[in-house]
Amino acid sequence: MSAPVEALRDHLAPIEDLKAAAAVLTWDQETYMPDGGAEARAQQLSTLHSTAHERFVADETGTLLDRAAEALDAPSPLDPDAALVRVTRRDYERAVRVPSSLVAELSKAKSQAQQAWKQARANDDFSHFAPHLEQLVDLSVKKAEAIGYENEPYDALLKEYEPGRITAAVVSLFDTLRDDLVPLVDALDEAAQIDDSALRGTYPQSEQQRFGRSVIADFGYDFDQGRQDVSAHPFTTSFSPNDVRLTTRYDEDNVASALFSTIHEAGHGLYEQGIDPALARTPLGEGTSLSIHESQARLWENHVGRSRPFWRHYLPRLRETFPDALGDVDLEPFYRAINRVEPSLIRVEADEVTYHLHVMLRFELERGLIDGSVSVNELPDRWNAAMDDYLGVVPETDANGVLQDVHWSQGAFGYFPTYTLGTLTAAQLIESIEDELPNLRAHVADGDFAPLLDWLRAHVHRHGRKLTAPDLLERATGRKLAADSWLAYAQNKFGGLYGLS
Ligand code: ZN
Repeated sequence: MSAPVEALRDHLAPIEDLKAAAAVLTWDQETYMPDGGAEARAQQLSTLHSTAHERFVADETGTLLDRAAEALDAPSPLDPDAALVRVTRRDYERAVRVPSSLVAELSKAKSQAQQAWKQARANDDFSHFAPHLEQLVDLSVKKAEAIGYENEPYDALLKEYEPGRITAAVVSLFDTLRDDLVPLVDALDEAAQIDDSALRGTYPQSEQQRFGRSVIADFGYDFDQGRQDVSAHPFTTSFSPNDVRLTTRYDEDNVASALFSTIHEAGHGLYEQGIDPALARTPLGEGTSLSIHESQARLWENHVGRSRPFWRHYLPRLRETFPDALGDVDLEPFYRAINRVEPSLIRVEADEVTYHLHVMLRFELERGLIDGSVSVNELPDRWNAAMDDYLGVVPETDANGVLQDVHWSQGAFGYFPTYTLGTLTAAQLIESIEDELPNLRAHVADGDFAPLLDWLRAHVHRHGRKLTAPDLLERATGRKLAADSWLAYAQNKFGGLYGLS
């Protein structure tokens, strides 16, 4: 490493430390902090975030970047020094374009909006949240204008989560997906419904916890470099590749809920644990985008965890764990129950197939908010009309409708499409993996996940942020992101389950 690159790294490392410290405090806030700690914690987090931001946008970062760039010689895209300069430059240019007054205004508006959203949701009163949402839309448009964009302001917001992608490409990908997805959902809706009553019973939390942990340890999740705790909303956070934390929540009446949430979060966690340790304490030392992150979670959750070979191996063990509830449940009914498709109101409870429609609805509405074609006041009506149109179910309250997700109260416009992008990415990855590892399903049926994890480590995990999502996927699968792999997978799997022709 040249001296200028080393100087850049030395400048960035303490900034990464500050961000990791903030992540520890956030993890604690969501798991163990008593309610009384909330006010002090908000101040502590605000201090850490603003200190990290100020250090990063300082002129010194720009100067060190220029010097480091001059010291590079004809680097390959995977060269760590070149990637460090490229990715840090991208982050830096984005960060310095947003005036610090706007950063402060947004941060204040977000914390007020989150309080208002919680109250509005508890009281089913959208009008209490509406003025805050209007303000966040307004400030987000200002932010997009400050950053700059290709075709529309939403491009700038999407890039925060998905560098390398633009809105128009997402729109056309989603159009292709929708064309085949809607007829599939309609056909599944008309077929005889699957009985999933076997999943309900009494499943003590301690046994659920032990079972879930043994499964993800089999995957390769390393409990010496991570842990799992309980939180209201499951999430994964990383303080370094050697300390990656998962959370989940338990429902003692349903065996599927915590198990699939555990597998999902472990997918995120395996990604972070697999990043090249040499990238730690640099801006490269984390997952490259939300869609790639989500692809890792969905791959383990759906393509592994909701597959027949997986349950051929684990159902006997699950039955032993819960002999009263599951003692006489056979593989096929169980496999069918965990793959039941049913249009529903709540995104986070949606099945694999209808999930995309929840995402598309949110994407269309938030893109409309940002380009001005949808107003905040008409949002509840637009929401309900789209639910009726896409899913054929309409929420009776805004709490179960437009107010259900936290994202907009956090000003996170551009986040929702990454869920579907991630699911499509997972299907495209698994198709390539099955080509390269023809015995994959047999390995899964033996509880041997090493070949799969090794492939993901080599093609996805170790790179950290060196490659953008489009570059990573093209290297890993030989083609750009498309909907066809997921559509073929869904038509085959769910067509079979529901006896469609
Ligand atoms: Zn996820």
